[in-house]
Amino acid sequence: MKLSRLASILGIQRIDHDREIEVLLTDSRQLTFPSSTLFFALITPTGDGHLYIDELYHAGVRAFVVEKLQKEESEYPEAQFLIVPDVLDALQKIGAERRQSFKGKVVAITGSNGKTTIKEYLYQLLTTAGVNADRSPRSFNSQIGVPLSLWQADPEAEVCLVEVGISKPGEMERLAKIVDPDIVLITNIGEAHQENFSSLQQKAEEKCKLATHSSPALLLYNGRDKVLSEAVSVISPPPLCRSYTEHRSRLTPPVSVAELLLPENLSAIMALLDELVPSLSPDTTIWSQLEPVEMRLEIFNGIYDTTIIDDAYNNDASALLLALEQLKRVSEKSQTPSCLILSDMTGMSAPHLREALLSQVSDMIRKMPPDKLIFVGKQLAALTAELSGMTSTPLCFESTNHFLETFDPQTLKGYTILLKGARTFKFEKISALFHPKRHQSILDINLTALLDNLKYYRSLVPSETRFVAMVKAFGYGSGDVEIARLLEAHHCHYLAVALIDEGVKLREEGIRMPIMVMNPESSALSHMCKHSLEPEVYSLALLDKLIESCRRLGITHYPIHIKLDTGMHRLGFDTHEEFLLLLDKLKSTNRVRVKSIFTHLAAADDITADEKTLGQLHTFQTWAEELEKTLGYTVLKHALNSAGISRFPQYSMDMVRLGIGLYGYPPYEDKGTLKTSLRAVASLKSIILQIKQIPAGDSVGYGTHATADTPRRIGIVPIGYADGIDRRLGNGNMSVRLQDGSLAPTIGNICMDAMMIDLTQASSVSEGEEVVIFDEQLPLQRLSSTLGTIPYEIITSISSRIARHYFRE
Ligand SMILES: *Cc1c(COP(=O)(O)O)cnc(C)c1O
Repeated sequence: MKLSRLASILGIQRIDHDREIEVLLTDSRQLTFPSSTLFFALITPTGDGHLYIDELYHAGVRAFVVEKLQKEESEYPEAQFLIVPDVLDALQKIGAERRQSFKGKVVAITGSNGKTTIKEYLYQLLTTAGVNADRSPRSFNSQIGVPLSLWQADPEAEVCLVEVGISKPGEMERLAKIVDPDIVLITNIGEAHQENFSSLQQKAEEKCKLATHSSPALLLYNGRDKVLSEAVSVISPPPLCRSYTEHRSRLTPPVSVAELLLPENLSAIMALLDELVPSLSPDTTIWSQLEPVEMRLEIFNGIYDTTIIDDAYNNDASALLLALEQLKRVSEKSQTPSCLILSDMTGMSAPHLREALLSQVSDMIRKMPPDKLIFVGKQLAALTAELSGMTSTPLCFESTNHFLETFDPQTLKGYTILLKGARTFKFEKISALFHPKRHQSILDINLTALLDNLKYYRSLVPSETRFVAMVKAFGYGSGDVEIARLLEAHHCHYLAVALIDEGVKLREEGIRMPIMVMNPESSALSHMCKHSLEPEVYSLALLDKLIESCRRLGITHYPIHIKLDTGMHRLGFDTHEEFLLLLDKLKSTNRVRVKSIFTHLAAADDITADEKTLGQLHTFQTWAEELEKTLGYTVLKHALNSAGISRFPQYSMDMVRLGIGLYGYPPYEDKGTLKTSLRAVASLKSIILQIKQIPAGDSVGYGTHATADTPRRIGIVPIGYADGIDRRLGNGNMSVRLQDGSLAPTIGNICMDAMMIDLTQASSVSEGEEVVIFDEQLPLQRLSSTLGTIPYEIITSISSRIARHYFRE
């Protein structure tokens, strides 16, 4: 939409700088297409969008909706500000206007549980049945999320599914006006957000307002929910409504589908299917392609032979039932006893809700009783008496700390344990109790040194150059999540990973900045899109698959990065013929949009290969120009890795990709300032577990070649080749530093989990003392040159069983 059109929706008739707007942005960290972005400077309890205008302007954003001007407009000569009394209201007006252009039916789904499940499965079924459907992404269901999802939705869709959530009174009326639904589905009234409502009745009535907007909608509701049914019955005037739990469908889904979904969610889906696709034949095969929608709980093998189901995400009563089913399945499959550790639910502190909640919990536990019950919190203890007859008597703890201080986790040896706690109970502390402990070797990660390295590279290139930080391969062995968090806070522009899974992990840990995926697997593209990970596109086949995935997910303008192979001969477009086909394809689709184009240098570190490097850079620039000309918009251009930044900073272009240098290792032998400017980020340390005297003539370790001709004193260090200490570093090929600063060489072969060092010269050393394998003073490069390899290989080989400890100076 043109900015001038959006302005007129907001009652602003004249603007100075018009432009095409594709993206509405409310979170400055999610910026991807600055020139076509309209930023809404929202003021929320946790932040003020007006504070990011400067940063966004510098990143290329030119259109802003604001309540006030922080600085003179002349400070932003190219910007257009739309000044409104209320930014949220402006965003909602635009959402509402967009909604009115929809051709198909709008279905709004609300309720305390099951909204996302119903929306996601129904969407899959509708598209399989050939209906052109669209849906709101993830959980875009709030006052901000709903208008954003309407903006993104395809106005041509025959059916648009919109998830609607509220957290306080008054919100539903606003959302109803925006969504203006044709069909409303309400799942149930649970305790979520109950703190803002005086009663469940009040919340039920509030939810019903979704169906009582000016153009009355068909209301489908869960008739088994008493409070909800009551609220529906008093709506005036009475709407057209039906209970979906009483609905008799013509369709008969196979048993496998019934296992995938709770019965109530399944009836909701069937009722909507009958309503939306009356032509569907009873023997339709749409069910067979249903894929499970991901659950949010995490399962891991803990210490003391436990299996931990960590489901601290959602603790209201209906989610408990699902989790108990999971506990039963997992423990039965592994034939282990089951244990539930449950905290009070948020609503339980409210006297008017306590009774009902307690009896719900008690019913569920009776239905699926675990072998052991542990309650944390003051309220659940009330159930002890009534539950003691059926399982072993519940153990009660007043608080999580009380549990941690007094409970011996070994008593749960061999159990499958479900952890279910409200946020405030911080059950992650209990989960940590069962996390496998690492042995005494650690990799210390100095975050201050990492920032110093970034600062150093920033000083080499023009100040507006953006940085992509490479955090592939577990952040070059140094830890991806912690480093990503640090870089996000320090306004790095992009992160890059090699695999989709690496990116998903970052998203799951809450990283929201843009992430590139260098080698996207074509089998997981929809997974990638769901997590807003931006792929490198290196072939036409991959592009086709990507466009197809976007089409299925109803996505347009998905950001991609084009990779040219200008001489590396790894991934990338290499013939001009293919490049032209690529341009044709890009021109003819609106599913994806090119965010950047790049190439990778094969020998930036090699002074004797500069001719090749310059050739690569020139080819790249020519093709990049051709791409921009053909597509008619500018994209970011980038070519330099760490070595490239040091040696060819004049080719920084829009962005550079910093890898090994960020972690403090020079990418090539250098006699200049590079070596002294970089700081090693990682230090590998272990301890001396035991010291022994070896008589002359005895050998050390496997084999007999390390036979000493004089008596020796040796130390055993619990780190071996399975930890990443190359076996060829044994027999004196490496030394470690002792606490007094002296060096001790290895003796004998390196074992899988241990190595021996010769302490004959170090008589004062005792058991338990620390040894350093590499750090800033004892560089890792010694090891790579002994082994004839590069620092990259050493640092990425440090095993994940070595704990990473992060610190700042
Ligand atoms: C790994 C990688 C980099 C970073 O290289 P360094 O030598 O570690 O700086 C840059 N670009 C691409 C495409 C890469 O795969």
